[in-house]
Amino acid sequence: MFLKAERVNILGITVDAYSMQETVEQIRQAVEGQVPIRVVTANPEMIYASDRDQRLKKLINSAEVVTADGIGVVWAARRLGTPIRERVTGIDLIQAVFPVAATRKWRLFFLGGNPGVAELAANQVVSKHPGIVWDTGNGYFSSEEEPQVLEKIRRFQPDILLVGLGAPRQEYWIAEHPGLAYVSVGVGGSFDALAGVVIRAPKRIQELHVEWLYRLWKEPRRWQRQSVLPRFVLKVLWQRLRRQTP
Ligand code: UDP
Repeated sequence: MFLKAERVNILGITVDAYSMQETVEQIRQAVEGQVPIRVVTANPEMIYASDRDQRLKKLINSAEVVTADGIGVVWAARRLGTPIRERVTGIDLIQAVFPVAATRKWRLFFLGGNPGVAELAANQVVSKHPGIVWDTGNGYFSSEEEPQVLEKIRRFQPDILLVGLGAPRQEYWIAEHPGLAYVSVGVGGSFDALAGVVIRAPKRIQELHVEWLYRLWKEPRRWQRQSVLPRFVLKVLWQRLRRQTP
């Protein structure tokens, strides 16, 4: 039933060469066909980490859809011989899903972020896309509180579960709780951006593919995380070289 994309192996992670529109189409088919899928938007940090973490690698590779989250992954795919047309980040993906969800009156559950942030995000979304039915939960619950969170989600019966607990925790959480929605997707800090708690880089900066630089400037503590990028690049070049050497 699913349109199969070409896949590219990047440091052992198989990334689907889907465009944004094709990814949204996968999500539409999953909801309408009632076939549950997990969507991982794989960024360089995650791919790099999974190179040393077999459990994480298995988890990502077992997702039905793995998209190229970031220009670093798009670059790697091209280097490795399977071009991917564009990046499909968590925030951009859900923004592309909202209009489809609104016309079809899908049920969306926003889980994650500080108390109040998911509500703020959902309110913003629904004011622009009326028709979406929604509920929320904050991302700071203890293991004792988790059964209540799960109960709230089950009662709501979402078509799509957006999980913003940060990577890779959200990916583990989704895999550990199957059957909550037709589509479960890890969205990192997207609710903060939707709620306006964190301001995204101006459009022009996004188009120049240097949003990561903007985030670094705004949140210098990300330096540690982004220092993975040059190491990711080197590993990809090494992978390419090894493939070419007979
Ligand atoms: N978060 C959460 N519960 C936690 C830890 C983090 O809900 O226990 C949220 C946090 O509030 C933020 C998001 O997860 O909204 C992580 O954002 P970040 O930008 O670090 O993630 P990324 O998009 O890089 O995966």
